Amino acid sequence: MSAKILVVDDIEANVRLLDAKLSAEYYDVVSATSGLAALDMAKREQPDVILLDIMMPGMDGFEVCQRLKADSTTRHIPVVMVTALDGREDRLRGLDAGADDFITKPFDEAILMARVKALTRLKQVTDELRQREAEGHKIGVIETVSARSEGNGGRIMIVDDRTRQAEHMLRHLSDDHRPFIEPDAEAARTAAKGPLDLVIINAVNSEFDGLRLLANLRSDPTSRAVPILVVVDPDDRQRMIKALELGANDIVARPVDTSELLVRARTQVRRKRYADALKQNLDQGLEKAVTDQLTGLFNRRYMDTQLKPLVRRAAEGGPSVSALILDIDHFKQVNDTYGHDVGDEVLQEFALRLAANVRAMDMACRMGGEEFVIIMPETEAPFAYSVAERIRLHVGGTSFPIRGGQGRLHVTISIGIATTQRGDTPESLLKRADEALYRAKAEGRNRVVVPPAA
Ligand code: GH3
Ligand code: MG
Ligand code: MG
Repeated sequence: MSAKILVVDDIEANVRLLDAKLSAEYYDVVSATSGLAALDMAKREQPDVILLDIMMPGMDGFEVCQRLKADSTTRHIPVVMVTALDGREDRLRGLDAGADDFITKPFDEAILMARVKALTRLKQVTDELRQREAEGHKIGVIETVSARSEGNGGRIMIVDDRTRQAEHMLRHLSDDHRPFIEPDAEAARTAAKGPLDLVIINAVNSEFDGLRLLANLRSDPTSRAVPILVVVDPDDRQRMIKALELGANDIVARPVDTSELLVRARTQVRRKRYADALKQNLDQGLEKAVTDQLTGLFNRRYMDTQLKPLVRRAAEGGPSVSALILDIDHFKQVNDTYGHDVGDEVLQEFALRLAANVRAMDMACRMGGEEFVIIMPETEAPFAYSVAERIRLHVGGTSFPIRGGQGRLHVTISIGIATTQRGDTPESLLKRADEALYRAKAEGRNRVVVPPAA
């Protein structure tokens, strides 16, 4: 899918010019000619990048940018400010307002395209994380990460063997961050495997090629996600474009303007923190959201979310779903006789035997206590029965190790089975399985019961 770019400029001719250039590179272009229209458009169209003119009557670009970044539905969209060639003050104000980048008028087409491409790539990565986080919300455990984390205190590695320039940057970054200088490319590659918030690479060093290092860091999975800012000669168009193509997140021109370096560093550090927080939240949240802590099987909440669409499809004439409810016989006695810890060991061993006896597509879940459920998609009753029998024998046939293997215990289980029928809901399906389980208990335990077909 091609990326969508929102072009904002009060002068129609400027919009058309950018539209033509971007469309020629197969971007989808939408446009707005005022600040208010831009805000509305950004919300509605959810573009991948916004190119924002500063000088507009009414609401100017700075204010538009601030508002975009203050709104949770648009703050993740990268904003590129369009400034006049000598607009240093504008650039600083723009970056301060939360802009992700700027380009100068008149446009250097190749650089414009390289910048836009770099930002759409970045957006796609964040989108994927945001998407997965949103799915986590549906399961109900993940809390939203605020995009407004501070961009201070970053661990910044400056890779530059030109001592004066490196120390100049170090001095200015030290107020807000924890920067250090690494003049050797090999050592920098090793250091980049550790936790870093930003790497600043000088493109032209006396002993090594900065762009080669950039390429190396981007191809190594342990350093792929770290933001990289490249320092280049302002006249060196080729290197500038190459750096962006190789995956640089940002570029600063030499001699390095320290105020500009500071805002750019802060933007990158903030972004890195946001991505880290999203990812961490996701890993922890999803892990907790779907698994039972004691056994590592899926938990009830996860089973509920998975069972719903399966049963709906089956009820509409799709493939049948079978559900097994398994319950350990006289488990209370295990606890009463041997203690709760041994009870837990039995539950864990039981979970292992369950997991060993189901297919990859089946879901083994702990419903709570000593009650377990196996959801078997695309499965008719006879096959479900054969699996249930196999599990029953696998549990009752070999005693369970207890007290870390010092003792053994004989354990049996009872199993009730139900297979979807017309008009079933997850509740009605599980209810039938539960009734079958009740009969298995009543008829003497250590057995499998399938209710008669309706
Ligand atoms: P039945 O054969 O009819 O299923 O009898 P039962 O004793 O297995 O069933 P009952 O429902 O009377 O008792 C279940 C016991 O499981 C009671 C509870 O203390 C115990 N239990 C529930 N959760 C845990 C747990 O996480 N760890 C341990 N060790 N015991 C648990
Ligand atoms: Mg019970
Ligand atoms: Mg029981």
